[in-house]
Amino acid sequence: MNDFNPEIIKVIGFDADDTLWVNEPFYRETEARFCDILSRYMPPAEINARLFRVEVDNLNLYGYGSKAFVLSLIETAVDISEGKVTAGEISRIIELGKAQINTKNPLLPGVPEVLEVLSRRYRLIVVTKGDLLDQERKLKNSGIADYFHHVEIMSDKKTDNYRRLLAHLDVTPDQFLMVGNSLKSDVVPVLTLGGYAIHVPFHVTWQHEELDPHDIPVGHFFTAEKLRGILSVFGL
Ligand SMILES: [Mg+2]
Repeated sequence: MNDFNPEIIKVIGFDADDTLWVNEPFYRETEARFCDILSRYMPPAEINARLFRVEVDNLNLYGYGSKAFVLSLIETAVDISEGKVTAGEISRIIELGKAQINTKNPLLPGVPEVLEVLSRRYRLIVVTKGDLLDQERKLKNSGIADYFHHVEIMSDKKTDNYRRLLAHLDVTPDQFLMVGNSLKSDVVPVLTLGGYAIHVPFHVTWQHEELDPHDIPVGHFFTAEKLRGILSVFGL
């Protein structure tokens, strides 16, 4: 998009997990240890496939985030062991989940610098889904909370969720630009509304967030390899 005028943007939304800080690799690590605990019941690839199905089936009930993940781990353990999983094994799985929740999520390179530059010209907000308490804890630990005017932790990131958010912020879609690593959650719903989006890919993406790039509406859309790269979209 060569005709993008950065001056029309009033609010920039940042996804949090794997856009501002590292998150998904900790899930992968927990899954690998989960497969180790249950290795006598099933090979890792099959456990992972079953876990993914359970997680997706539970999304409507539990939503996204770490607590939902732990519940799905336990359900999968009971399921794949056909009820033979021991209390000791369940305890180890719960400990894995707690350890993950207690992990400090390191910031991705360039985050404070980029926020510093953009916060001088734009209203910055965080737009994330997941467990409320967990996301609040991550933001507090991140040391970057002060850059943001508003933090929106939503149950899902669909077009309607963004529509409500923009109405609440009193901005029109063409005054809003979203930055994130998920085409499905951070890019497509915003473009659908008529907003702008910058995709900053991360090297690990949860299967459920993956999307065929051909499904992306044309226009209003940029890609940056790293977060620092988004500054050039704003001519900075
Ligand atoms: Mg993300």
